[in-house]
Amino acid sequence: MPSLISHRISQDKLRRIRAENENISLEYVRALTTPIIAELTKWANETVYSKLGGELSWKIMLDESANAAAVTKLSDPMHPTIEINLGMLREIYRDSFVFPLISDMLASDSSTVKDLNETFKNLNFTFDSGVPPTHPSHHSGTFKLLKPIYDEKKHENLTDDMLVTRFLMLELMVVWLYCHELGHLVQRHYLLQVATGGGDVVSVSEAQEDVQMHSKKTDEDYFLKSQAREILADLEGVTLAVDYMLRKKLFNMPSIYMLLCAQEIMFHRFAVVYAENFDIPDLKHPHPIIRSEFMQSYYTHLILDTLVNNKLAPSKESVTMPMLYLSVRSSTMSGLFWANRYEKFDADNRPTFLVLSNEEYHEPKSEYLKTMVLWVAKQMEEIEPNHLLDQNFFAYYKRLEIFKKL
Ligand SMILES: [Zn+2]
Repeated sequence: MPSLISHRISQDKLRRIRAENENISLEYVRALTTPIIAELTKWANETVYSKLGGELSWKIMLDESANAAAVTKLSDPMHPTIEINLGMLREIYRDSFVFPLISDMLASDSSTVKDLNETFKNLNFTFDSGVPPTHPSHHSGTFKLLKPIYDEKKHENLTDDMLVTRFLMLELMVVWLYCHELGHLVQRHYLLQVATGGGDVVSVSEAQEDVQMHSKKTDEDYFLKSQAREILADLEGVTLAVDYMLRKKLFNMPSIYMLLCAQEIMFHRFAVVYAENFDIPDLKHPHPIIRSEFMQSYYTHLILDTLVNNKLAPSKESVTMPMLYLSVRSSTMSGLFWANRYEKFDADNRPTFLVLSNEEYHEPKSEYLKTMVLWVAKQMEEIEPNHLLDQNFFAYYKRLEIFKKL
């Protein structure tokens, strides 16, 4: 039995987090996140479903587990539902609440940020503070709404930058999660799934235990196909999230960085049920480090091309280094955040994400990536004729040929 990453989770730290949960009002979390979810649904209906005579709905489920799902009735597929558990929204709220505080601590009490900035020659895109410096044009609607309330009962010592990035992270984490589920729906993954118990409902859920035995028994490549579709939902999700940032005038450096951090933290959350190796597991979702590799590689290109297409940068090359900095920095800060919040460190005092970047894992990790590149391509062929978005990211993704050099 290989050792699981969950063995690294500190029970003391978990107890502390459960105690924190007691102080988070679920109704407050629901109220903060509902406008984001409602607006995304409105956009999806205007852009996709109303044109097809359908309607997408959403539900926040009163459930403690950190889960979300895309639910389709086979007899009425153009009226699907995105379900997000309140437990998941609470995790997102708590992480975005704490991340700027821990980032600040890491920047001031350790040499992590200083060392990283030195590797990038302290060029003008680096920053010494825990979170990126912000400007009034970076302020999200949620920040503007809640800033006066914070000022009134100031019990935390937060800079404006920390407060701005806290709400950016909350918003973008909800957006990415929602758009991942929307990705399952617009790619019509239900056509490639089997309804539970031969019934009418296909639910693509983010919970690992929810394996549909029928599909697994009738298709020996079930897990590989399912893992490829999760990567495709991740990539669709991040493409739609960048569209959202452009629509909301949030396409700027702090948002680009906070979305990276949000995704990395989400992947750390999902990683706890995986083995500490890169054997392809019998699970519906790929190892989160594999998801992260796909995401970071694709997102980097997407951001660079979006900057150039919107005339915010003269060429991809001119912004490659700043983007590389944000990518490396987000992995480091999110990994350390997760380790500080949840993990016991190993004998050499290293967090899991650093252990898994050891030399010995390079080969198995690149084998896993190569396998997934293949299965992603195969699943794309099946999905493409049924994709509900005319302008989708498939052609762009194919042109990128990511991981070609592996
Ligand atoms: Zn999914």
